[in-house]
Amino acid sequence: MHSGIEARVKARVFSAGYCTGPGKVADKSLPWGKIKFPAPFALIQHPREGWVLFDTGYHPRLYECTQRLPEKLLALSTPFVVETKDTAVTTLEGIGVTPDEIGHLVLSHLHADHTAGVLDFCQAQLYSDPAGWEFIQNSGRLSRARKGYVSRLLPGDFQTRSTFINDYNVCVSKLLGCDGLSTELRGRDLFGDELIYLISLPGHARGHLGMLCRLHDRWLFFLADACWLTDNLSPGHEPHAAAGLIFDDSHEFNNTLGSLQQLYKHANEKILFIPSHCSKTIDKLVEKGWMS
Ligand SMILES: [Zn+2]
Repeated sequence: MHSGIEARVKARVFSAGYCTGPGKVADKSLPWGKIKFPAPFALIQHPREGWVLFDTGYHPRLYECTQRLPEKLLALSTPFVVETKDTAVTTLEGIGVTPDEIGHLVLSHLHADHTAGVLDFCQAQLYSDPAGWEFIQNSGRLSRARKGYVSRLLPGDFQTRSTFINDYNVCVSKLLGCDGLSTELRGRDLFGDELIYLISLPGHARGHLGMLCRLHDRWLFFLADACWLTDNLSPGHEPHAAAGLIFDDSHEFNNTLGSLQQLYKHANEKILFIPSHCSKTIDKLVEKGWMS
């Protein structure tokens, strides 16, 4: 890298529970049999801003929130498993980081498996695209549940504690030195220091975001649910058409995935792609510990 930027971030990935679902829905080349989808979160150490959390994974409070219909639909369609010892708050306390020390919490989108732990981080500034929050506010309980949202998981002061991001003024292929690529991926420099970028990855859910983090010799690209498996980044392994039923916009999902496939093909050696629910990728990173 030739940016002349001295400071870098450190990052570590953890898993907070998992759900199960048919493999073929996630990758059309797989059989229908059920596979495990981890629900990870990432802890980033920023040299000036301190701790930044990306998503939260599952939390046992989601069991209570999905006892009754319509939220029960969520537990029925994607049965999940999470123990208190695996939650973001307990895991972080285990490595000496108290919840009040988390100053920034980035939410890729507001689906329950990414937001179930948000209530534990009362001091954090929240970051998300406003489209997700607008959807939650303007839709009824049934349509929220059908789309994977449980609004009780979000704190009462969600709006006042949020910085909503929707001015994506950075061209991702230029940022990564892949000027020749025709991808339309765009992002926004989170703290204005070229270390962390929030990337608009529309299609999976309203206002869906990923995050790029600059390490010493490469980038980490947290893709959230822009694809479910690293294999999706290779043509022929896209999700099954049935997955379109749960997407916010299938056409946009396919456009976003097409751009990511191009980027994967051309910049694979300088970017580590991290889809949230790929157990092959997440298990390895959890084992690995800190990346810098
Ligand atoms: Zn999702």
